[in-house]
Amino acid sequence: MSESILSQRASRRAKAVPPGERERLLALAEGIPDLIKLGRGDPDLDTPSHIVEAAVEALRKGYTHYTHWAGMGELRQAISEKLKRDNGLSYDPGTEIVVTTGVQEAMYVVFQSLLNPGDEVLIGDPHYTAYDFMVTFAGGKIIYVPTDEKDDFVLQPQSLLEHITPKTKVVVVVTPNNPTGAVIPRETLEEIANLAIEKDLVVISDEIYEKIIFDGRRHVSIASFPGMYERSIVLNGFSKAYSMTGWRLGYMAAPEGFIKKCRMLKYTLTISVHHATQAAALAVLTGGDECIRKTVAIYDERRRLVMSKLDEMGLTYGYPGGTMYVFANITPTGRTAYEFCLDLLRDAHVLIMPGTVYGNGEGYVRISFLAPLEQLEVAMDRMTRAVRSYLRGSA
Ligand code: PLP
Repeated sequence: MSESILSQRASRRAKAVPPGERERLLALAEGIPDLIKLGRGDPDLDTPSHIVEAAVEALRKGYTHYTHWAGMGELRQAISEKLKRDNGLSYDPGTEIVVTTGVQEAMYVVFQSLLNPGDEVLIGDPHYTAYDFMVTFAGGKIIYVPTDEKDDFVLQPQSLLEHITPKTKVVVVVTPNNPTGAVIPRETLEEIANLAIEKDLVVISDEIYEKIIFDGRRHVSIASFPGMYERSIVLNGFSKAYSMTGWRLGYMAAPEGFIKKCRMLKYTLTISVHHATQAAALAVLTGGDECIRKTVAIYDERRRLVMSKLDEMGLTYGYPGGTMYVFANITPTGRTAYEFCLDLLRDAHVLIMPGTVYGNGEGYVRISFLAPLEQLEVAMDRMTRAVRSYLRGSA
């Protein structure tokens, strides 16, 4: 009774978010004994031990308090140095960097601080759909800019241009991209930067997958191009590269004037990020990139396995230059993306996600290679058998 009163009285914003395919698949997967989960974006690897030790040590030393709302000064200094070293970006640690509870909190703070009702936000699609809710909750309108398998799902400047209207305020650039693994090449990124300058747009650059990048590529931050500092907000974090999803640790960097506008909202939401967690972040940034090299080598081996198995199945995909995902085209099986995932769950006990969970990804599925190689091999062999039978059925 009281529940129905409350659910009736939920806001229009809350009612606009029905449970989706992801939740239904997760519920169906529960209780399958030999299930192999390749559905989530949560690394199966452990957080490197020197990072864990730093947090334990910090707790022992009494790092159990609120910190400055923007994060520990020492950590902001280390983030500022990292942004300079890795990305060629200059942000003042005193006034232009905020440590957040994951990139997720940074996204929320940024959109609430940036959007007025009706403002349009462009994002390459398929995409990480938390952006939809963040933008909608802030009163804005998310506009999908389609990307295509023939371009390896790289966001095309021409396509972006076609979606710009007088109401467009923001472009979200996510490279490497979840769920497609697309890495936007430097020249394309520069064209997008020039477009943002020409059309006077703000750019939110989500660089959470920057370190998980393959084939000798180097990540480029769009904020590093001339004229971009003043219109860019850089989001980054520790979840993916350092297997730290549960630590909830990220940051944003932007010019001082905008950061000042974010202050009260960030403070109201969480006051500050967990104290000992911030000490762990400091250990990440001062500990060198050796652990990253190991992680990337592990992911690369898995990525190659998934690609070669898909090749054997005769299924195509956008080339994943980064991330821990392969976005595969299942249209030859004659199924929708959701039907394919349901059938695969039932027939092969492998959980993957339909492309439709990530916007207009019909015809595609996201395979996260976040299981040990041996397990991944078993999953891909099971998938091969299932796909072969679907292909025979649809012939
Ligand atoms: N941005 C993208 C593109 C993501 O894929 C994710 C998580 O999957 C996030 C942000 C959220 O990251 P965090 O764990 O730092 O909140």
